[in-house]
Amino acid sequence: MTTEDNPITHWIGGKPVTGLSARTAPVYNPATGAVTGNVVLADQGDVDAAVADATKAFEYWSQRSLSARTKVLFKFRQLLADEAGRLATVITDEHGKIYSDALGEVQRGLEVVEFACGIPHLIKGEFSDQISTGVDAFSFREPLGVVAGITPFNFPAMVPLWMHPIAIAAGNAFLLKPSERDPSASLILAELWQRAGLPDGVLNVVQGDKTAVDAIVDHLGIAAVSFVGSTPVARYIHERASQRGKRVQALGGAKNHAVVLPDADLDQAASHLIAAAYGSAGERCMAISVAVAVGDAADPLVRLLAAQARQVKVGPGRDPEAEMGPLVTGAARERIVGYIGTAAGDGATVVIDGRDLVVAGHEEGFFLGPTLIDHVSASAGVYTEELFGPVLAVVRVDTLDEAIALINANPYGNGTAIFTENGDAARRFQRGVRVGMIGVNVPIPTPMAYYSFGGWKDSLFGDHHIHGAEGIRFYTRAKAVTQRWHGSVTHAASYSFPTAQ
Ligand code: NAD
Repeated sequence: MTTEDNPITHWIGGKPVTGLSARTAPVYNPATGAVTGNVVLADQGDVDAAVADATKAFEYWSQRSLSARTKVLFKFRQLLADEAGRLATVITDEHGKIYSDALGEVQRGLEVVEFACGIPHLIKGEFSDQISTGVDAFSFREPLGVVAGITPFNFPAMVPLWMHPIAIAAGNAFLLKPSERDPSASLILAELWQRAGLPDGVLNVVQGDKTAVDAIVDHLGIAAVSFVGSTPVARYIHERASQRGKRVQALGGAKNHAVVLPDADLDQAASHLIAAAYGSAGERCMAISVAVAVGDAADPLVRLLAAQARQVKVGPGRDPEAEMGPLVTGAARERIVGYIGTAAGDGATVVIDGRDLVVAGHEEGFFLGPTLIDHVSASAGVYTEELFGPVLAVVRVDTLDEAIALINANPYGNGTAIFTENGDAARRFQRGVRVGMIGVNVPIPTPMAYYSFGGWKDSLFGDHHIHGAEGIRFYTRAKAVTQRWHGSVTHAASYSFPTAQ
């Protein structure tokens, strides 16, 4: 297929559009290294057109009954379930992750749609009878207007699905700006919404890079921005969108530590750590990238990790035997290769080096083998940087308190886990770490759709976590009404500040 065969477009007003800008970017199949499409990159005019269209759609959609909106959501949920395989294939081909993993992300996104199907209950207000004689009070929540989501490459379906089903269910119009590295999944989502009966313009997709992001963040017609991506961009978007008076939630990067105590079931811990470090080639914001081995756990743990890391089957995502695919781009691979090269100079021991891995028949693919690095210090580059690849660093400490202090000194606070058989130690850990999501003998503690997802410190800027109850609050604002009807009760007007009578 040539790039001309596959132009990857925006989706505005219920149809694919090429837009005004002449800029494009190549999209790769990471397993082969080949360019498989060219994505259009929006400029200011494209964003303006998408917002104007969404503004009209909002006027209609926000007035639809809860029942009418819910019917569309249920239908979308069914279509998403029916088309999960198609979506997962596109994700595998543009992101590189193995097909079963891509199906898993669609499933986790689908669960947010199921949560959003409960919008009539979730958006219910409060009512107080007789707050004063003959006076009642109630509150309810309204949508914000046109809201935007800017999403990362590593979950091209799940992260957009963390956001827009809830925003749309609440009555907003949503403008999605997916990652330019794997943009096609967003177009399938838009098509499924249309087939589900969502009015055109309620979900618009604008493809693009920083130019599109800046146009979104600055646009006066956009009321709120949800962002998920790296920390520097999250911080930038939070500051810039806040300055322009928008509501913002900006989820950033991560460096997730898993603490292994000597009393843990080390076989279990090692196999879970291997899957959590190398699954999706380490390109998950909840991937474990640091194993903190406490005391006597260290030597046997590293032996087990090394034995299992050597067994990981690396191959193209469409190969049903593969357990780990390539990285998303050649540039991502080269960056991580560079950091592995600095590890020995920083005093660490490279136990398993994935740099030389070659996948037969896929020599041009962006593959990097599982890499295990022991005796890593807190000042080494492989520890301080978010590598976002299949590299597991082992840091050795003497006590649980030292492990907790290490985690708390790290600027990121997305996820963390502890492996132990000791409930008291686990409890000290969960109460002591300054991290948003914690696993006890669970390496990737990603909250279900009906809980909220979010990190602390440099892993999240803003007041709201994503999806769950916090998602409903983020995409709505409250009105409080105090009401009286003249009739059986009469009220004298008063010049004093109102108090209950
Ligand atoms: P990224 O920050 O490079 O890109 C994210 C989005 O921002 C994309 O849509 C991109 O087009 C846009 N963007 C990139 N550079 C920009 C710039 N300079 N100005 C304005 N916009 C810009 O992130 P990525 O590489 O796509 O995704 C990986 C990162 O996302 C990792 O850091 C990972 O930890 C993080 N992530 C975090 C979570 C979370 O929940 N905290 C979830 C998934 C991914």
